[in-house]
Amino acid sequence: MKRPIIGIIGDVRFVNEPELQNGQYRTYLNQSYIEAVKKGGGIPVIFPPTEEYIESALEQFLAMTDGLLLPGGDDVAPYFYGEESHQNIGYFLSWMDKVHIEAARIADRLGKPILGICRGMQVMNIAFGGTLYQDLPSQKEGVIQHSQKAPRSEGTHVVAVMPDSFLEKCFQEGSILVNSHHHQAVKDLADQFKITAKASDGVVEAIESTMGSWMLGVQWHPEALTDAGREDQRKLFEKFVEICEKNSCK
Ligand code: MN
Repeated sequence: MKRPIIGIIGDVRFVNEPELQNGQYRTYLNQSYIEAVKKGGGIPVIFPPTEEYIESALEQFLAMTDGLLLPGGDDVAPYFYGEESHQNIGYFLSWMDKVHIEAARIADRLGKPILGICRGMQVMNIAFGGTLYQDLPSQKEGVIQHSQKAPRSEGTHVVAVMPDSFLEKCFQEGSILVNSHHHQAVKDLADQFKITAKASDGVVEAIESTMGSWMLGVQWHPEALTDAGREDQRKLFEKFVEICEKNSCK
């Protein structure tokens, strides 16, 4: 049986290790994303962002895939949602952000399902007109810890899942224990989405599209929990791959 191809946009970082002298850009992806897509039944393929961005290449790549996964990573340049940099904004690489944002828009135009994880969910929101908290602890009052010190395999806060959402059907639970590795979060939601999970402090933890392509964004890291043996989180990837498959057979 042919397995769906899941396109993943690679992450880029400037690395400055002693043996590199002046440092260099490196494209990479945490192995957990690859393993999770594989465990969900898909074939992961990575697209490397480049500084001289070629839109047609990204379009050609996405046309070959059955769905798009936008992975976690560093902060997104606030320029893309019309803000100046806050004191506590972390590392970002705007040319890479541009490729990730365009990937979401092109995939939507091509009718490809999208799964956004952590930063990937934030990228999705920005791509369709939303904004972010640049730094939760200093910009939102009364927030719980969202940058956990515990290992990625640990769930550290719960999220309340909204009724009649894809997530509710997927997990069949109203409350899920998740890990949390973010200091940014969705502020203004883009028109394309509805909120389908929230933390107890009101922070947006999941969004789903209400028009255009099928899209799901989760603020936690289901791939790391899948690594740790959480069957409910592996199922999320399985369902996503199934949706990609059905969508391609239409
Ligand atoms: Mn969180």
